[in-house]
Amino acid sequence: MSVSNASSRTPTTNDDAAVTKSPSAESRELTNYRLGDRLEQEELATVYRATHQTLDRPVQIHILRRTDWVSSSRFQLAARLSARFNHPNILPVIDAGHDERYGAYIVTPHIEGRTLEEVLANGPLESMLALRIITQIGSALDYLHEQKVVHRDVRPGNILLTPQGVAYLNNLSLAAAPDTPDFSSIEDGDYLTPYSAPEQTFVDKDASPAQDFYSIGALLYHMLGGNLPPAPGEKLKSLGERDTAMANADRVVQKLMMQEPGQRFQNSSQVIAALRQALRDQIDDSTDDMEESRWETMAEWLENPLETVLGTLIEQDFLTKSRSRADHMHRTGVLKRQIDRWSRQSFLRKPDLGDIIQPDQITSYNVYFYELEAHYETRTPPKKRTEIHKGGALTPALQQPELWDVKVPELEAFVDAPAKEIVMPGSQKVIACTECNGTTQTVCKTCSGKGSIERVRRVKASDGTTRNEKIQENCPACRGYGKIPCSGCEATGQMREEQAFTWSRHGRAYFNEDDITGLHKPTLEEQLQQVYKDRIDPYESRWHQVAPLHELIEEAIKGGGNDTRLITAELTIRGVPVTEVDYQLSNAPHSLTIVGFKEEIRGDWTVIDISKLVPYAVIAVLVLILLLVIMF
Ligand SMILES: [Zn+2]
Ligand SMILES: [Zn+2]
Repeated sequence: MSVSNASSRTPTTNDDAAVTKSPSAESRELTNYRLGDRLEQEELATVYRATHQTLDRPVQIHILRRTDWVSSSRFQLAARLSARFNHPNILPVIDAGHDERYGAYIVTPHIEGRTLEEVLANGPLESMLALRIITQIGSALDYLHEQKVVHRDVRPGNILLTPQGVAYLNNLSLAAAPDTPDFSSIEDGDYLTPYSAPEQTFVDKDASPAQDFYSIGALLYHMLGGNLPPAPGEKLKSLGERDTAMANADRVVQKLMMQEPGQRFQNSSQVIAALRQALRDQIDDSTDDMEESRWETMAEWLENPLETVLGTLIEQDFLTKSRSRADHMHRTGVLKRQIDRWSRQSFLRKPDLGDIIQPDQITSYNVYFYELEAHYETRTPPKKRTEIHKGGALTPALQQPELWDVKVPELEAFVDAPAKEIVMPGSQKVIACTECNGTTQTVCKTCSGKGSIERVRRVKASDGTTRNEKIQENCPACRGYGKIPCSGCEATGQMREEQAFTWSRHGRAYFNEDDITGLHKPTLEEQLQQVYKDRIDPYESRWHQVAPLHELIEEAIKGGGNDTRLITAELTIRGVPVTEVDYQLSNAPHSLTIVGFKEEIRGDWTVIDISKLVPYAVIAVLVLILLLVIMF
């Protein structure tokens, strides 16, 4: 580990005062090491050339030169972390300890080299060297991020470059790792550099790798343009303004240096693939003799808006694989061979199609299909109803809550519920029965309350004549009482008046996809792979930044119907990479597409050998004539 001097942040005038121990000429031994020349003064340590006494191995010894708590914690952290890691682009720590005379020290292999800061003092780098450095440092960062460590201090002063072009990432003394000490007492301003991400702070132990990618962008900006990255708030100058050949590389820098961490690249493979594509002309010039490593000039990668806005959420493996698929297919000769191979697979396809098709434009991009599983709850407006009240407690007579604040049965997400009536809390009151006015009885309808009914009886007199005789009988319905129990209130005399609404839950699925005009949908669908699936808050603004997703969610929000709310939504996104090849044939534009990782080719009639269809057409016509002859 080498803790380089950041002149921007260390007041050099205080350096000597900060030195606590200095080896004198007569005492130049430190445990097993013989100290040699002083090499440099770094921010935290003084570096000496040294030799391991028994092994006679050249090393560098870094002796902590500050005594404050923050410095010694940072020194210990850097030692611990570097000793743990094993990566060709992270300078290893081979020994560390505490010496009575010199204090804390770290031993690293002796490496001939200069810091990138020193190299950049001479101006911008040749783009191939910049690409080489980014590739190595990016690989070291991916490794650190896998170990849940964020470097937080990637800058030229912390990169060591050997004459052979090997780059080492140094100085983990400000890294965010599970065992990072509490740095909340340090003043961010003292440690932030022009390469630090705008959101960076050293308090946060759960720092995001996105911070390191911002620094990589700033580093790239400096290496390719020769200028320090702009201070926070200042606008980033375009690299293309100074050198038009850098316009494509500028897009990579811009994406790395996005203010919004989620919009930056998410791993180094993506950065390197994009950078190689951006610098393909320069790479071509430097590798003219290696055809395989050159790119077609008309080949282009198009980033999907979903990737720009929500790139962090998408399965990173898919993004990396689709970028490298395009990277491969855009290389000189690869498409031609692929199309040739395809044309040989069926004799109906034109032979040597790869030679016939001269691409005007090759475009690779990812296509996404969206599915939203929406789950709704319906609450109809409360209606007044009257029920027989047979006693029992009423809901407390509180103020009535808003309809959507009423407690409903708790269900797991996505569980349907059939319609059910729910009483509005606080809406219940007991009233006298309107039919019997609370008396529990109503007038008997059979006898109109008289208790008796008149019946006509035929009576035979003694003289043999018959006559009709009216008699009064007890009313059979009320047994002479004149009243019957009220049926409206089941003779309770009281009713319960309340407000009730109907509650139910149901689900529905919605589908949408990117604009796939001109593409063969079933072929795309066959090769889709899931890149995202999670419960989402459909009202959250970020989902509405991508057009097809916005349409999908809007449709789902409206789709529940009246009195309905979308309560849970699960979003599934599936993606497939596509390469579109535009070409001219007989003076007309045509295109074919290569779909998915299986690289299935779909083209129009120009890929078919029509002359080979002639015999089939002739046979078909003959069969038809034969049939007609037989039938008539
Ligand atoms: Zn009644
Ligand atoms: Zn009666």
